[in-house]
Amino acid sequence: MNRRSFLKWANLAGLAAGLPSASAFGATVEDTKAGARPDAPATPKAASPETILLKDYRPQSIYKIPITEVAKAKFPVIDMHSHPYAKTAAEIDEWVRNMDEVGIEKTMILTMSTGAAFDEIQRKYAKHPERFEMWCGFDLAGFDKPGFGPAAVKELERCKQAGARGVGEIHDKGQGLRSGKSKAPGMHPDDPRMAAIWDKCGELGMPVSLHVADPIWMYQKMDRHNDGLMNAYEWRLDNQPNIVGLSGMVDILERTVPRHRNTTFIACHFANLDYDLARLGEVLERNPNLYADISARYAETAPIPRFAAAFYEKHADRLVYGTDMGFGKAMYRITFRILESLDEHFYEIDQFSYHWSLNGFGLSDGILKQVYHDNAAKLLAARA
Ligand SMILES: [Zn+2]
Repeated sequence: MNRRSFLKWANLAGLAAGLPSASAFGATVEDTKAGARPDAPATPKAASPETILLKDYRPQSIYKIPITEVAKAKFPVIDMHSHPYAKTAAEIDEWVRNMDEVGIEKTMILTMSTGAAFDEIQRKYAKHPERFEMWCGFDLAGFDKPGFGPAAVKELERCKQAGARGVGEIHDKGQGLRSGKSKAPGMHPDDPRMAAIWDKCGELGMPVSLHVADPIWMYQKMDRHNDGLMNAYEWRLDNQPNIVGLSGMVDILERTVPRHRNTTFIACHFANLDYDLARLGEVLERNPNLYADISARYAETAPIPRFAAAFYEKHADRLVYGTDMGFGKAMYRITFRILESLDEHFYEIDQFSYHWSLNGFGLSDGILKQVYHDNAAKLLAARA
């Protein structure tokens, strides 16, 4: 889960009151129609431009140009990055209806959980085995004590028995591995203590969804030059002690993946190299057992549509679709608009919490089929 989905999740669960930052994100109602944003900050009356704050800035495009509404994805979609946002049977049914309407064939639920917590989520979603797959987490307890490896492997095998089909989302933003609430401060993916666990994932046919680092502006100075300032400030990492930076985390990813060639890794969110896709391309080329998911980095790539589209074209066989942003129809449709259309200069500030304008990539049918579906289907089929 990333920062946005957490806020959405927290809001859906009625936890937002405890989160002072939620309102700063304009915590969106999932299916708000474009233009009607009941929760967007109100414009102060007759505010002088001198007093309008960046966080309140809601520009509206002036251009009379085509607006493409993509109600349903052009081809069937496998969503490789979601979380157990739906909590009740009714919500899960609603999610399935939304998936039908927008064209999502199947969704990977990255539970990040083990033990009883995993089993409970597994039970809740069991009514729709064709529509949802449950992926488990790691039990990182005792990571600093002898016997950690075998214990974690044992729980992984148990989760597999209980229905887990993959592993994720496992995080390391630079301070150590985390699987949901289970944490291992200072232990990174390339740590020798993790080696047997990664190998076991391959042996069990469980792909791993691995989130390394976070967007570059989270690590940069929080000043007027920071390109992602409003979002970056909320999720800042520049003030964290003992943190490996973004580039160092990508190095760690690249040390880990080649050591475990029989394990399939999916780097979440373009490995947070959405700002440096050329480097991601090199990492993918060096590592045949690595894929990247495109979840929750739509706003971060839509400002550079030509470069991003060229990247999709070059690495179309290694990119998989994901969302990570709840299960509202409007959310899915924005991702389709960005991938499919050639629309220019549109805003989705309250969905993504950046002030930039966005542009569509206009991906070809062949690339859409690969990214939406075929790469994921191939990766999932290879497990058997
Ligand atoms: Zn996620």
